[in-house]
Amino acid sequence: MPDTITFLGTADGVPSPARFHASLLLRLAGRTVLLDCGEPCSHTLKRLGADLTGLEAVIVTHTHSDHVAGLPMLLQAMWLARRTRPLAVHLPRHAIEPLRTWLRCCYLFEEQFKFRVHWRALTDKTAVRIGPVRIRARRTTHLDATRRRFARKYPRVGFDSFSLLIEGGGKRAVYSADLGRPRDLAPLLDKPVDLLIVELSHFHPRDLFDFLRERPIRRVALTHLGHQARAQLGLVRRLAARALKPSRVSFPRERAALEF
Ligand SMILES: [Zn+2]
Repeated sequence: MPDTITFLGTADGVPSPARFHASLLLRLAGRTVLLDCGEPCSHTLKRLGADLTGLEAVIVTHTHSDHVAGLPMLLQAMWLARRTRPLAVHLPRHAIEPLRTWLRCCYLFEEQFKFRVHWRALTDKTAVRIGPVRIRARRTTHLDATRRRFARKYPRVGFDSFSLLIEGGGKRAVYSADLGRPRDLAPLLDKPVDLLIVELSHFHPRDLFDFLRERPIRRVALTHLGHQARAQLGLVRRLAARALKPSRVSFPRERAALEF
């Protein structure tokens, strides 16, 4: 099985008639992991014919609803598919108990499932191991402004958002998830990477491309396109081609699988 990333959703948080919210299916070294659960990820997995019982882990980079809202439906789909294999779900700690409560509100009682859900807190120190695959989380500044505004009023809410460094089978990839600024990625790009999947909605595309110029990256896939970037996709493509080698840049659409 080739090492691939399949793009289940490529929009930002603004609902779109043509694009879905953030979710990526990683196949690496024979293992399968879902990165983010933007809706309608279970629909798209079904449409692709993906095996819901074979998925080994889910990693939610942060709990903005365009990254997490598909998770209850995904668990329902696994329950109805009679999954028996345990599932590890990694997400920011503050959301674990509220989400389990929400599942019960949706009449999804974990004791009904034929599989165990292992809820795991995703932190800056997390190294998720799935066989030969290792995924490390690195905090970004994406939620810093929200933290400054709301942390005092809502002390039980965490404000962490993570990028992921994915290694396995001799490959190295980075998934930015949502950033505060392009240089949040600097610690993950200090060594060569085979693939960078990077968002394009929280800064000007030119700032990202200037940052990426000269970095040791074999391929760049641009995703999580903001509505402004979508409206000016021709211009964004030209800026990317000018700053980076055109052959190494792509703008995958829904259900596209990128081999790396
Ligand atoms: Zn976000």
